Amino acid sequence: MAAVPHLTPDEFRRLGRQVVDWVADYMERVEDLPVLAQVKPGEVRAGLPAHPPTEGEPFSAVMADLDEIVMPGITHWQSPNFFAFFAGNTSGPSVLGDLVASGLGTQGMLWATSPAATELETLVLDWLAEMLGLPEAFLSTSTGGGVVQDTASSSTLCAVLAGRERALGHSGNEAGIGDRLVAYTSAHAHSSVEKAVRIAGIGSARLRHVDVDAGYAMVPEALDAAIRADVAAGLVPAFVNATVGTTSSLAMDPVRPIGEICREHGVWYHVDAAWAGSAAVCPEFRHLQDGLELADSYVVNPHKWLLVGLHFSAFFVADRAEYLRTLSLLPEYLRNEASASGAVIDYRDWHVALGRRFRALKAWFVIRHYGVAGLQAMIREHVRLGRLLAAWIEEHPSFELVAPVPLNLVCFRHVDGDAASEAVVERVNATGRAYLTHTKLDGRYVIRVNVGQAHTEERHVGRLWDLLTAG
Ligand code: PLP
Repeated sequence: MAAVPHLTPDEFRRLGRQVVDWVADYMERVEDLPVLAQVKPGEVRAGLPAHPPTEGEPFSAVMADLDEIVMPGITHWQSPNFFAFFAGNTSGPSVLGDLVASGLGTQGMLWATSPAATELETLVLDWLAEMLGLPEAFLSTSTGGGVVQDTASSSTLCAVLAGRERALGHSGNEAGIGDRLVAYTSAHAHSSVEKAVRIAGIGSARLRHVDVDAGYAMVPEALDAAIRADVAAGLVPAFVNATVGTTSSLAMDPVRPIGEICREHGVWYHVDAAWAGSAAVCPEFRHLQDGLELADSYVVNPHKWLLVGLHFSAFFVADRAEYLRTLSLLPEYLRNEASASGAVIDYRDWHVALGRRFRALKAWFVIRHYGVAGLQAMIREHVRLGRLLAAWIEEHPSFELVAPVPLNLVCFRHVDGDAASEAVVERVNATGRAYLTHTKLDGRYVIRVNVGQAHTEERHVGRLWDLLTAG
């Protein structure tokens, strides 16, 4: 029988060093690479063998293909010239923490299947809650607690499911009202809210898009009116989503008045702060989510703006006992003494997936490396640079701002209209020297610049400005 060609520890050590060097070289040169991948659809796949090798290949052949065929198809999210969407930052400590997690290869579905994975996760989430000034109830030492999910989309899905169960009286729809549930958000909420409402069986038609004000933030009175109209019509409000920092324009739904309405009607209140929530590491930005103590659940993505690489979405609930009634099930094959004792957390009960990698490790590496002060310094600099760009735009005769700039997302357009704005985005992206994206507000094309990449400095924003104004 042929031997299985595992890497020996010594081979792994040698190749591992090569790969760490490769990543370090990448960090050095990423700034000079064209930010947006320049390949055509199908080009990467066509460059690689269509069928898997029968016999294993030398590692050097894999690395050669990585350099020659895969890398041209990479869009460089870690480039300081990346201004598109919201940034997706990683960092040296995160990569190293993730390497350790991969090497350990634990599966932490239960406390018993790797106690340290669970306990470190609980600790890191309590640290995060403290760093962000979240309400006491979101701490594991209080009535609630957090869990690491892959994405904000998954976190919001869990919130919708919990809201549905509350509205059904945790009775598995015995009352037969499952087809009368309604959910509410603003039209500017992320599409993950509608996706979650569909998956939960409430359906897109029962997702109310509440009116927004001139700054694209939800109008609480309109929410109240919508809920009252639905109740009067015999429908059952089940879920409200407020967004702290909408994806299109970073609009801030007013968390407190929306929360008061949810309390009055007993509706599950979820706050999606996927991007902007990270700003709360700086006390001066916490007012943007004042009223969080009224929320049942909250999501923030350290994998966007706190230097923890994908996937790391932090989801918090205020009342874990109620939350777990939605997702906790105990098949015989998972029974164990520690779980039965009630003294431990089994995170498999906190989300859809059963299996879970040791994601807390990379966040722990990041927080210990940077310290709270290091993360605050980055956020403050991004906000300063975003506002600087906004000031330049305000003074330029060809551009106008189209939304408030509460943090570091700048939305603007060309005064000559949509075609001119679109031409600016296309021209800048075609240079390969920066990458930005667009959105639509009030039906009009809007240029969108997010100054949020970990290594973006004033000189990068200055170069972007030169590109924007070069036409
Ligand atoms: N919510 C908001 C406000 C977002 O901006 C985004 C993505 O940008 C998401 C949710 C979805 O995040 P994820 O990719 O973690 O699902």
